[in-house]
Amino acid sequence: MPQIRMLSPETVSKIAAGEVVERPASALKELIENSLDAGARTIRVDIEHAGRALIRVSDDGCGISPDDLETAALRHSTSKISSFEDLDSLSTFGFRGEALYSIAAVSRLSVASCEHGADSGLRLEIEGGKIVSKRQSPPVPGTTIEVRDLFFNVPARAKFLKSDATERAHLLKTAEECILANPDVAFHVRADGAAAFDVAASPGGSARALLDRAAQVMGARAAKGMLYVEDAEIGLTAVISPPDNLAASRSLQYFFVNRRPVSGKAVSQALYRAYARYRGKNHPACAVFLELPPADFDVNIHPQKLDVRFKNESLIFRRVAAAAEAALSGAAKPAPVFTAPPPQAVQIEPPSAEGIVRIAEPVQITLEDLSDLMGAAAAPAGAVRETAEQRLSVEDLAEQAPAWWRPPYRYIGQLENSYLIFETGDGLAIVDQHAAQEKVIFEEYMRQLSSKMPAVQQFMMPVLVELPASAAQNILNWKDWLLSAGFEIEQAGPAALLVRSAPSALRFTDSDAANFVERLSGEVGDPDRCAEDVKRETVALLACKRAVKAGDSLSPQEAVRLLYDLKNCREGMTCPHGRPTMTAISSDELARRFKRPGAAGGIKER
Ligand code: ADP
Ligand code: MG
Repeated sequence: MPQIRMLSPETVSKIAAGEVVERPASALKELIENSLDAGARTIRVDIEHAGRALIRVSDDGCGISPDDLETAALRHSTSKISSFEDLDSLSTFGFRGEALYSIAAVSRLSVASCEHGADSGLRLEIEGGKIVSKRQSPPVPGTTIEVRDLFFNVPARAKFLKSDATERAHLLKTAEECILANPDVAFHVRADGAAAFDVAASPGGSARALLDRAAQVMGARAAKGMLYVEDAEIGLTAVISPPDNLAASRSLQYFFVNRRPVSGKAVSQALYRAYARYRGKNHPACAVFLELPPADFDVNIHPQKLDVRFKNESLIFRRVAAAAEAALSGAAKPAPVFTAPPPQAVQIEPPSAEGIVRIAEPVQITLEDLSDLMGAAAAPAGAVRETAEQRLSVEDLAEQAPAWWRPPYRYIGQLENSYLIFETGDGLAIVDQHAAQEKVIFEEYMRQLSSKMPAVQQFMMPVLVELPASAAQNILNWKDWLLSAGFEIEQAGPAALLVRSAPSALRFTDSDAANFVERLSGEVGDPDRCAEDVKRETVALLACKRAVKAGDSLSPQEAVRLLYDLKNCREGMTCPHGRPTMTAISSDELARRFKRPGAAGGIKER
């Protein structure tokens, strides 16, 4: 029978600490929140080696008296709960008196603190929960806590940490949330010596202050034209994207209750309701704050984010949706006013060439022409054109052709800038231009990815992409892999990236590249946990979507070329997302629909 043993107090405290301090970002969050609770006006954060080497948080808050310092750092202790009744309300936000103690248990921690007006402060050094030094510190009001070598005594935890880029992204995200939620506090955040954020305090809790913070955190482009929303009844204040400047992904959404970051499911659903008319496939950027009495919600405490349940969820949903809707409809461009045309005699006019179907110069492709086209299509730009002797025979072409291929094709024209219509050797073919382009680009790019380094198009001017520092870190995590996929991306500041090149198969414009990177930052996770083919597919799917321009009008030559490229696809009948790229109506089907005498009554004669 296995023997039951008592765990040593050290082991118990390490296990408990692991629950509070999951990763460097959770330590940072606790330290900054303590500084905020202490009434700090300025908070300085220094991070080294993604928080593994050092997390230092320094504030000008109320300080801790020398008598209390040891207790604060070494016991479950709090100055924030004085009576049992308080426990109910304060505990909702994790004033459980265990953060400092937990961090000290799993790191080498030093804390120096001095109360305002005191002659001197006290500095403690603690290793794995034990005091190793205790001395006076200079009378600088406020508290500085340094956490070094996090998890040095819990190797299993240390091993569990992700790549530096991932941990740094979590750290920056934590800083972003604190910065957004506290416009009245100045923040100076440095990572490995470089400034990530330097934001001054804007007093007053004004709309302007919040808008400024949103621009500092999310980037000027995402914050452009943001709308300020409030509703006193539910303590709502928010800044949200205007209808004409939405973001490519969900990554710019921040939700808070009583200034603590929460995962805001109900609030986010309300917001999406308000944006339904405007957003298409885009997403709002937002920072949404609710100030509520503790009795009005429950929280599930989780180290990174609080999961909130509102007592009156439908009220919150309705009021958030209504407030956002009002702001959006005020900002939306006035809808065109339709007035009924005055009644008049109906005139039948002959259809003009500019009618629904744009009549193209008929372009006929015959089997003979195909071998010419094949030569042109197979030759990448700049490569030596194939000579006549190398051309494939008509028989080869017929053999390679997919089942749907019914030459000869004659291009008739384009419908609604979206559909290409061809007469075929057996009736009519209608090609969905965008689905077909997407498919062609997708397969071409996938082929290049799996065979070699894709051909690359260098931008004349590198494309600047502004995005939150944490999102930029996410992308930098993928930097090496993206380079091998044709995207050369580098950091251009804490919250900005430069895109120098993109795969030429994608024919990206500057704004396609920016949009692609923004979208990617919201979708990708840790590249180490993602198989190579999943990476390729994720990136290719996103990229081919950006590559296709809506509503392009095509020249007849381009239309024919597209049909031809589609023929060369492995699975040309469907787009990468599985929708059909084309549909065909056979001659028999046409004859049947018009009840022609020769129609085969639905039975196809070939
Ligand atoms: P809690 O925040 O739940 O009270 P912590 O373990 O985070 O518990 O902190 C313990 C106590 O240490 C706090 O209640 C507070 O009195 C004191 N303390 C921690 N950090 C600071 C700080 N930066 N400034 C002033 N007091 C602090
Ligand atoms: Mg705390």
